[in-house]
This record gives sequence, C-alpha cells and structure tokens, in this order.
Amino acid sequence: MSDLNKELSEYTKNLNKASKDSNINRAITRAVKAYRDTVEDTMERHPHTPELAEEVRRIKEYSMENNQQLLEKAMQSIEKNKGKAFYAKDREEALRITNEIIGTGKTVVKGKSMLGEELQIRHGLEESGNEVWETDLGEFILQLKNDRPMHILSPAIHVPREQVAEIFTEFFKKEIPPDIAQEVAVVREFLREKYFTADVGISGANVVAADTGQIVIIENEGNVRLCTGAPPVHIVLVGIEKLVPSFLDSMKVAEVTWRYAQYASPSYVNIISGPSKTGDIEKVTTYGAHGPKEFYVIFVDNGRSEMLKDPTCRQALSCLRCGGCMYECPVFQVTAGHYGRTYLSGIGSVWTSFVDGGVEEAAPMLYTCLRCGRCVERCPMKIEVPTMVGELRNRLVSE
Ligand code: SF4
Repeated sequence: MSDLNKELSEYTKNLNKASKDSNINRAITRAVKAYRDTVEDTMERHPHTPELAEEVRRIKEYSMENNQQLLEKAMQSIEKNKGKAFYAKDREEALRITNEIIGTGKTVVKGKSMLGEELQIRHGLEESGNEVWETDLGEFILQLKNDRPMHILSPAIHVPREQVAEIFTEFFKKEIPPDIAQEVAVVREFLREKYFTADVGISGANVVAADTGQIVIIENEGNVRLCTGAPPVHIVLVGIEKLVPSFLDSMKVAEVTWRYAQYASPSYVNIISGPSKTGDIEKVTTYGAHGPKEFYVIFVDNGRSEMLKDPTCRQALSCLRCGGCMYECPVFQVTAGHYGRTYLSGIGSVWTSFVDGGVEEAAPMLYTCLRCGRCVERCPMKIEVPTMVGELRNRLVSE
C-alpha cells in the first residue's frame, strides 16, 4: 500500500469513528442549532450585512492585488507608531523571530489564533523552555485535553460540558460539576493570576489597516484584552492576507466577520496601534504606561504568496474565518474537525494545500468534500470551494 493510500485509509477510519462518537454528535448537534438560530436573528436585526459583505469582497480583492504594497505600508506605519514589524516567510522564520523576542524561561499568555495553530507556536515556545497558557476557554480545554481545535471559532466544539467537567476535575484536583457557569468561573480564577504575572502576551489579528498600522481583534471572552494589555510585551502573529488599505476598510471587514460568525455585536473589538504610552508628565512621551512597553507584529507568509499567484485558488485568501461554512457542511456536521488538519472542511482543504503540507497532505480532505456547495451559500465572500477542490484534485492526479 502506498503512503498516500495508507494515509487515506487511516483518515477514513477516523472519520467513521468520529461519526459514531456520541460526544461529538451531541456537541455538534447543539452547536449547529445554536448557530443557525442566532445567525438568522442577527441578520434580521442588521439587514444591511449582505450588502456590506459585497463591499468587503471588493476590498479583499483589491487588497490581494496590492498585497506587497500594503505590507510595506503597514510595516512602516507600525514602526512610526513605535512598534516593530517583521516579515516571516515560513514557520521556521516566524518561530525564530518569536523566540528571539521572548527568549527562554518566560511565562506567555496566548489568545486564540488559527495562524498560531498553523505554526504550532505553543509547542515551539514550550520547546524553547517557556510556560505557555492558552487563554481562550476552548483552547484552554484543548490544552488540558492534549487535543487540537475542531472548529476555527469554537475550537472545543466537540467537547460537551460533561467531558469538560471531567477534564477540569482532574486538572484542578477538585470536583467540578457539568455546569457551564461553574466551569467558566474556575478557569477565570486560574488564568487571572497568569495574565498579571506573564512576561509576554501573544495574539492573532482579524484584520490590519495598512494606512494606520492598526491591528483589529474581535473577541467575546475578554481574554484578548488581558493578554494584549497586561503583560509588558505584546506580540501579534498575523497572515499577510489580513491586510487592507485603510482603517475604515478594516472596520467593514470586522463587522462582516463578526456578523457571519453569528454575533450581532461581539463583546469587544480591540484596536491596537502600538505600545502603551503617556505624556502626562511634562508632555514627555514615555512608553510602557499601564499596557505593554514593547509591541511587535510579525507578518507571516508561509505559502500565502504562492496562493496569491494561483488564479483559481487565490480567492481562498479572502476567507474571513467566520466559521459559517463549517456549520453548513454535511461532512463536518457528523465528523467535526476530524475532517481536516489545522484548517477544516472544504475551505480548509484548499488552505492545507498551500500552507499546511501541500496538496498531497490535503488529498484526504480534498476527496472528502462532497462539492455540494452549501458552504458557498453561507459564505459572506462567496468563495467557490467546490471549484477549487475540483481543480486541486486534477492537479493531484496529474502530479
Ligand atoms: S470560507 Fe467563507 S464561510 Fe467559511 S470561514 Fe471563510 S469566509 Fe467564513
């Protein structure tokens, strides 16, 4: 049996197993229902959203055409704001830069970031002798469970409250009942101390405005505010596809992202331009007031430039990571993130082909896609996943 056949057979076994897993089944059924109910209500309350999504499609197309110029402009803007900007062409470079900033023996608090998963940043920093804590509740559960995200927005979507209670009872060494409010409270108490003793906070970004160098991060839990505000150093890891020309554009992208992620209004939208500063004493600007004294932004390529050059697949770069398509995907609905690696479902198979191992690694995912097109219906960017999957299958066969 060839390596590819072996891999396919292993993968198929996992998919079958996942489809019979009662924890996954219970958790996904609840999540899909909640998503559909909420997103419908959200769109009714904000009916201009589909029109705004069309405008965002145009912004993203322009941004892809002009990615290099936007990158240069954003890096200059960040430096002007007294931050430091870097470009990393791949995982090794991104890790090297991050390690050089952080060093070893540090405590790091980290917000949710798909790019962080792609780069395996937590493992990389742990290998360098640092203590790293995931602060997004779902990611924290997965860190304790030694598991990987099964949805890009709700990483622990496959873990029902009963299982969370078991995991927490073991970790905190006290009985935690399967009560969501109590589960949330115990993590809040544990992480609070970490935020204020951490040396470094790491976050991702939803969008970056090139003209102002401002980083926009959408969240609900409040953990990103603490990760990016409490430690003396803040590092942002962001893919080059997140660049848009102006601050106004970034707000439009942000609104469409959170709306299709089912939020009428997220609890927080963080806009970060540079290190914290004050001019309160004699108007002398001094950096490191209450927030971080050092601010670093690492723009990561890792295969994205290749995707940009690809006439069929470049549209995948406009993905907002709203996660809507996954709730509609018939395969994802029964297998959760077993249908994928870092990136999941149909859109994930395209991303995997470029940034996470190449088209051979993506082969099992490419052949799992039913090409039914339900994802396109839900997608605010109308990304043609079935077309890209067909094209990548052709390339795989001819290779
Ligand atoms: S492909 Fe579309 S629906 Fe799916 S996560 Fe990306 S933007 Fe959202």
